[in-house]
Amino acid sequence: MHAEPFEYARAESISHAVRLLEEIEDSQLLAGGQALIPLLKKRKVAPGTLIDISGIDELHGIAQTDSGVRIGALSTHKEITSSDLLDDLVPVLPAAIAKISGGIQVHNVATIGGNIARAHPAYDYPGALRASEARIHIVGPDGEQIVPAAEFFCGACKTCLEESQLVTAVAIDDWKQKRCGGYAKKKEPASGGSVIGIATDLLFEDADSSRVSEARIAANGFQAHAVRITAAEEALRGRRITPETIESAASAAGDDRDTDAILDNKKASADYREALLGPYVRRSLQKAISN
Ligand SMILES: Cc1cc2nc3c(=O)[nH]c(=O)nc-3n(C[C@H](O)[C@H](O)[C@H](O)COP(=O)(O)OP(=O)(O)OC[C@H]3O[C@@H](n4cnc5c(N)ncnc54)[C@H](O)[C@@H]3O)c2cc1C
Repeated sequence: MHAEPFEYARAESISHAVRLLEEIEDSQLLAGGQALIPLLKKRKVAPGTLIDISGIDELHGIAQTDSGVRIGALSTHKEITSSDLLDDLVPVLPAAIAKISGGIQVHNVATIGGNIARAHPAYDYPGALRASEARIHIVGPDGEQIVPAAEFFCGACKTCLEESQLVTAVAIDDWKQKRCGGYAKKKEPASGGSVIGIATDLLFEDADSSRVSEARIAANGFQAHAVRITAAEEALRGRRITPETIESAASAAGDDRDTDAILDNKKASADYREALLGPYVRRSLQKAISN
């Protein structure tokens, strides 16, 4: 199938993109095109105009800031997985993004902004951004807004983005503590997306300590949008990381689940996803401490 005919406009700056979104009715942003082009070809979407933002310099780059790191919305998966800065400051993010399917072709062009704006439940960024307590920078006709990842994702393929707004960057704090991160993903064989993907971000009391001061664990693919697994987090907080505490976190993982909210679709049943939760929390913790 071919896409319906559409017009094409190229935005030169963030403010130009916002203006085009406001002025052109029935328009949609184009970043890496790795989600949008297949949707166009299947005629699941048919915008009148595509606004190409890929040439906007301000949306590129991964840079250290006073509070941590700023990741421009056009940063590609490849740039994120090869960033030493991210590896140091927020290791859960490159660990999760390395597990994205599609091969080097996808990793070279697909972007963090496009991934989180699409917000598919099987995508890998949302859980990593919830675990690392990222903030999403959004710009629209009323200026800039900064939204915690916990509020940005609000349903399957749903975000808090309003009309004529775009994601400009993702910011993550450097807690200036020993930190480790890991990601364990059960791939859906056909799409390569997450049946479940568990992101773990651990902070330790001091550089030599194995005592966890803060544990943040989030799941992709478990519910309509990424959720924190708070029962597993509580099982670790204030405790030393040992095989026993990892085991108790894995066993506790399902304690505060909302059974009715677990995804149940043709990719995997709710029962299957529920059965995977504990084992993948265990695996994610093991990966985090071995990284
Ligand atoms: C074969 C294949 C396998 C994949 N496997 C995985 C996987 O395992 N895990 C995973 O997480 N992802 C996977 N993906 C998705 C991919 O990683 C991209 O994240 C996704 O395609 C979106 O990024 P993009 O830059 O291509 O966005 P686009 O396709 O250009 O845009 C996607 C949507 O976001 C909107 N948009 C784009 N940029 C912005 C912005 N800055 N602000 C607001 N809205 C914006 C667009 O209007 C569109 O609605 C896969 C893709 C392919 C093709």
